[in-house]
Amino acid sequence: MSTPQLILKQRAELLAVLCGGGSAEPLDCVLDLLLAWEVLVWEDYLSIQVAEKALNYKVRQLLDVVYDKGEDACSCLLAAMNQVLPEEQKAGLCFGEECAVVGKNRPDTATLTLLADRPVLVRKLRDNIDGALNVLLTTDCFTIKDCDVVQLPVYTPSQQVRRLLDQVRFKGETAAKTLLQFLEQTETTRPNPEDKENHPSANCMLYQKKLRSSVAAQSHTLSTYGGTGHFSLDDIYTDGLLEVMDGSGETTTLGLEDVVGPVGTLNDDADTFLVSGEAGSGKSTLLQRLHLLWAREALLTNIFLLFPFSCRKLNAEHRELSLKELLFLHCCWPDRGQDEVFQFILDHPNLVLFTFDGLDEFKQGFTDEERHCCPTKQVPIPVLLFNLLQGTLMKGVMKVVTSRPQAVGPSLKRYLRKEVLLKGFSPGGIDCFVKKHHSDPAMARRVIESLQANSVLLSLCHIPVFCWIVTKCHQELLGSQDGIPQTITDVYLLVLQHFFQRKSYQPQGVLGKAWLEEHLDTVLKLGQLALESLEASCYVFSGYELQRIGLTEQDVSMGFLIYCNDLSVTDCKRYEFLHITLQCFFAAFYLVLNRNSDRSAIYRLFQPKNKQLSGLSQRCLGHCIDSSVEGVKSHVTETPNLQITAQFVSGLLSQRHHNLLQECCPTAVRERKAKQVVKSLSKGMQRHFKSIPRPVEGEKKSMHAMPSFVWLIKCIYEMQDSSIAQDTMAKLDVEHLKLTYCNIGPVECTALAYVLKYLRNPVGLQLDNNSVGDVGVEQLLPCLHICHSLYLRNNNISDEGIRKLLEKGMKCERFQKIALFNNNLTDACTQHFAWLLKSKQNFLSLRLGNNNITSQGAEQLAEGLSSNQSLQFLGLWGNKIGDRGAEALADALRNSTTLIWLSDLFNRFCLLFIYLLIYFLNEICMSVCLGFTRPLSFFSLRLNKNCISREGVECLIEALKMNSSVKEVWLRGNNLSPEEEEELSKQESRLTF
Ligand code: ADP
Repeated sequence: MSTPQLILKQRAELLAVLCGGGSAEPLDCVLDLLLAWEVLVWEDYLSIQVAEKALNYKVRQLLDVVYDKGEDACSCLLAAMNQVLPEEQKAGLCFGEECAVVGKNRPDTATLTLLADRPVLVRKLRDNIDGALNVLLTTDCFTIKDCDVVQLPVYTPSQQVRRLLDQVRFKGETAAKTLLQFLEQTETTRPNPEDKENHPSANCMLYQKKLRSSVAAQSHTLSTYGGTGHFSLDDIYTDGLLEVMDGSGETTTLGLEDVVGPVGTLNDDADTFLVSGEAGSGKSTLLQRLHLLWAREALLTNIFLLFPFSCRKLNAEHRELSLKELLFLHCCWPDRGQDEVFQFILDHPNLVLFTFDGLDEFKQGFTDEERHCCPTKQVPIPVLLFNLLQGTLMKGVMKVVTSRPQAVGPSLKRYLRKEVLLKGFSPGGIDCFVKKHHSDPAMARRVIESLQANSVLLSLCHIPVFCWIVTKCHQELLGSQDGIPQTITDVYLLVLQHFFQRKSYQPQGVLGKAWLEEHLDTVLKLGQLALESLEASCYVFSGYELQRIGLTEQDVSMGFLIYCNDLSVTDCKRYEFLHITLQCFFAAFYLVLNRNSDRSAIYRLFQPKNKQLSGLSQRCLGHCIDSSVEGVKSHVTETPNLQITAQFVSGLLSQRHHNLLQECCPTAVRERKAKQVVKSLSKGMQRHFKSIPRPVEGEKKSMHAMPSFVWLIKCIYEMQDSSIAQDTMAKLDVEHLKLTYCNIGPVECTALAYVLKYLRNPVGLQLDNNSVGDVGVEQLLPCLHICHSLYLRNNNISDEGIRKLLEKGMKCERFQKIALFNNNLTDACTQHFAWLLKSKQNFLSLRLGNNNITSQGAEQLAEGLSSNQSLQFLGLWGNKIGDRGAEALADALRNSTTLIWLSDLFNRFCLLFIYLLIYFLNEICMSVCLGFTRPLSFFSLRLNKNCISREGVECLIEALKMNSSVKEVWLRGNNLSPEEEEELSKQESRLTF
């Protein structure tokens, strides 16, 4: 009997078994299999699983649908039922001949994979629905509502999984991929419960639970919102820009989950992952997010135990400790089975993760001189920490460390598995943060509009801590009488006002003009604490230290100091500044306002390397300075903080804040200090200029900026005095200024442009491999007139930034070269370049390699090129301009007669280095390029990594016969065998393989 007949004949029985007991589970399982085998398509499934219909309706529907599909489908249904039903229910039923389900190819999309693996996935996900939902929620694939729909209590766990899978399918490919990744991760890395070795004991499980809940409690809120309390990390966390650089200098953008992933690995033997970024870029917050997600089992699901440490808090630990004590005392104490838990940690380093926040704040600089590998021996904290980072102790445990880049020297770099750069918020991130901060959309809109209207402020907001201040102080900002903040000092004055205003009894906005004078006592006391402790690399204070300085509870209640959020067991309250930059700001205030400070304090501040602890610090901070590390030279911890402090000092002493300070500091003192700052800045710059090597003959005089060059420029900017900028730049005489890999973001661009615009002679400004972005480009415009070349390779620039840049560049006579390799440019920017080429007949070099330009963009460029008579270099490597685009370009060049004339001008050499490294360039197009009736003066033609075959090269050789000006043709990485390469290069010596 055929299978459709079998189904028809047994219809009543099949209905009975599939509805038996009222459970939908057998039907659901059968449906899972039929979907996976592609017997049912999604529409069939939906026509069966109608929410409001009874179970027997659904089964009847299934039987009908399958029956209509014919013999094969019916065989599959019977096979599925045979597989799903328990033996006792199958008695008396006939399932026909065994049917072999033909193995299909693996599906090529994630959505289809979810269908193909549905029966297995239902089983696998049943015990981990929360984990999967968390991942989908945190990656924004799901909303809370989606989760609620899945988790309706009327559903059994299997039904919940099916709802989840259906919802994921509905959301699309990204959601499906996320879910599959989650499953893969949990599967490959989660300790296998079957595996006795890995199976944690009950005590370990208890400990994990305790650790998870303490970590969750500790990471639930952000310290900057501690006082106000109405924001959880979930409410406000906004993804920052994370980048990793591989060995060849290529950068890749990462997600939070990739921080400890394989992308960007430089050293497979190391276990330490570094997240580096400037102060306020969000390092601690990122770590906090990782902690929270681990505690909720939403990320790092392969990690059984995560131990979070703060380096600033470790500074205060003067005892010698063993590893066991470090973990249990500083993180979480096991209630039961300490030895057993510790042994589990030792035996399973791959299931453990340590995080160390703020290595730059650790008192002692990293060294690998002292080796220590015994987990039970007590040693000083630095020895313990450094050996953990090196992997001498607890090899195999992953460590995530955050630090400012300055504190990571070559000795530590050797032990890094990879370095992830945290670059603050993207423009979209800023909008997102503001919207999260202001629940009132109208207010969020106003703040965003005010930021967009002021690009200086917008550029500051790329640094999350500034973004936080600007958003927090929106009222002061929007209602400000004193103009919009221009400098970071302005921004921090805003936050100062905001906090005092909050505690003032006067109505909003009435903080009197003399507000600083009114609060001078508090500011000075906080300033003293800040400065003395900065000098001693001390960031956590006891109540006793506050008392010693005379800080009262009322001072503390202003909100600049907060309680330390700490897992460790301590018997006294400890405090820290809201953020390190705020500590620097108060320190700067103290240096500016304190009448008793010694006269050389400002000079010393600007020479942090030669810094000696002042007598005052030594006297007052004996308790902060660990006697074991005193005398340890070469520590770089303070330098970045003192540099930030110096920036604030420059800002506070600027003429613009004269009125604010006038009642708090005698004018003569203020002016003397301001002069000292100017002198220090000028001297610092001189030192740089002196370091410029003499130019090699035939080369340009060039300066590669030292690390503190940008800092000095930022200090000059804080002073907002054009005459200082002008005087300083008058002495700089270079033709090329190189600032590559200098962490230049939009904020630095503002300062650079402010100062460089006063250069006397035109300069080539090389800013490759920074984070300039569109906002940074806009900030650079004021100095564009002095730049003959601008190098912005790898800087996250998009078409909008280019539009603004070229609008201005068009009007700058000297502007002749631009390099934009590896940005985010598309065809939308080529019309601007075409316009530039048409209207600027002295433009020499346009390098647009590795962007997203297609044939359309190339056609536009060609249009500009056909009316240009000056261009010498055109770089289009790594775009997708295809044959059409290449032909258009070749045509445009063919019409150019002036190029020949220009080649004579340029030493009879080539005029056009054309880097036509265009993927998919084919043979025809190449002969078009070369076989001009009037041959062009190419010198070097680079055709590496195309798809050129032997046939193509033969065409090329023919074309080359007509063109003697081409001196070399590069053809590496094409479709040719070594034998073919050898043979062809014999035919034409100009070919290089
Ligand atoms: P860092 O550790 O690099 O100095 P923090 O993580 O302490 O910087 O960030 C300073 C402040 O900036 C935080 O307290 C918070 O208010 C804000 N912030 C930083 N990163 C984020 C983020 N990803 N989402 C929301 N706010 C952030």
